[in-house]
Amino acid sequence: SLNDPKKFTEDFMAYVKAKNPGEAEFHQAVQGSVECLADYLIKHPRFLKAKILERMVEPERVIQFRVPWTDDNGNVQINRGYRVEMNSSIGPYKGGLRFHPNVNLNIFKFLAFEQVLKNSLTTLPMGGGKGGADFDPKGKSDNEVMRFCQSFMTELARHIGPDTDIPAGDIGVGGREIGFMFGQYKRLRNEFTGVLTGKGLGWGGSVIRPEATGYGTVYFAEEMLKTRGESFAGKTVAISGSGNVAQYAVEKVLDLGGKPVSLSDSNGTIYDPDGIDREKLEYVKLLKNGYRGRIYEYAEKYNVAYFENQRPWGIRCDIALPCATQNELNGDDAATLLANGCILVAEGANMPSTPEAKNLFIENRILYGPGKAANAGGVAVSGLEMTQNSMRLAWSHEEVNQKLHRIMCNIHEMCVKFGKEEDGYINYVKGANIGGFVKVANAMIAQGL
Ligand code: GLU
Repeated sequence: SLNDPKKFTEDFMAYVKAKNPGEAEFHQAVQGSVECLADYLIKHPRFLKAKILERMVEPERVIQFRVPWTDDNGNVQINRGYRVEMNSSIGPYKGGLRFHPNVNLNIFKFLAFEQVLKNSLTTLPMGGGKGGADFDPKGKSDNEVMRFCQSFMTELARHIGPDTDIPAGDIGVGGREIGFMFGQYKRLRNEFTGVLTGKGLGWGGSVIRPEATGYGTVYFAEEMLKTRGESFAGKTVAISGSGNVAQYAVEKVLDLGGKPVSLSDSNGTIYDPDGIDREKLEYVKLLKNGYRGRIYEYAEKYNVAYFENQRPWGIRCDIALPCATQNELNGDDAATLLANGCILVAEGANMPSTPEAKNLFIENRILYGPGKAANAGGVAVSGLEMTQNSMRLAWSHEEVNQKLHRIMCNIHEMCVKFGKEEDGYINYVKGANIGGFVKVANAMIAQGL
């Protein structure tokens, strides 16, 4: 194990699995990183001696709590809330909150683990955390969502703060939920601070925060394309998801002259071969954010194909941007994309590709940008929102957009620096993992046990 990266990974994963039984997504995320880090660690034994990896897979703190609330019929409902405070070596815990019926501690540990490396890559001083609840916002009234958010924050408030832990949105948590939670935090503490990011523009939010993850993913993909003398111009782009990441990925693809042809939700996929133009995109924003409707309504309105219970990966495309959720793109999907001539996959979601898919992309030497690099724009602009809150001023649209763009270019450079293989192929997975790891690991050593 001491000089064989494969054996090293196997041994470490046996340790992680024994300590965290049954946590499949957490194992998957850790394995994805350890595979990339093994060789580097063997060459840098000081990290092994300090047991950095063993420390990084152990959250600094895990909070689990009861969230009681009453629905519109007066019935008592009980949900489970979580916050995984993973690593604070380079800054306060930072990461989103996810409200989704299928989440559990395993999911939040995988997300928090990814967040630590991602936040490090942004170059901003943010540690990593993640949280949320098994609450399903689907079909709930605004008042039910408000009461849930208030109850959730009543407990969470005692664990967070602008210099301690700064949550934000993720799946199921957008501007509406951040507003309700911020209101409750303020009520409890009587303090107006930057404790959450993704706030409304009139009350401490940053311009470009809603756009940041989608824009950032496309900026990153643009840099990847440049390494092969390519661009988005004229490219057909398959996009999954239809939330804020997917919507603003569509917008930026249009800005760069590409043709987005799909969107999806948990019920199915719409395929618009003429392309989702700006007018149709405005409809999607209204449909999703205004009416909280489903994507099949797009197919009805514009008379295009709807594939029930399917994802977009069967569609012929040059570029694929998975912007929905974890493990939404499997080995078969990857084989289909490759057979159809896809040249680039950049992940707007967290860990959307299964290990089989990821390995196929890399073996076939296509451009593959993993989430922790490609989707870091969201948390990066959250970091910029924190800076603006601390300074008690607000930057302009141009300023924030320019900073976001520069950060995505820096992350790309970092991936090239640590990810270039002997044959010249840029392994972005390796680059992102090593690039994110080094700063955190050095900080942990400097700060002692
Ligand atoms: N949920 C986003 C992510 O996965 C953003 C987190 C944040 O802004 O803190 O990175």
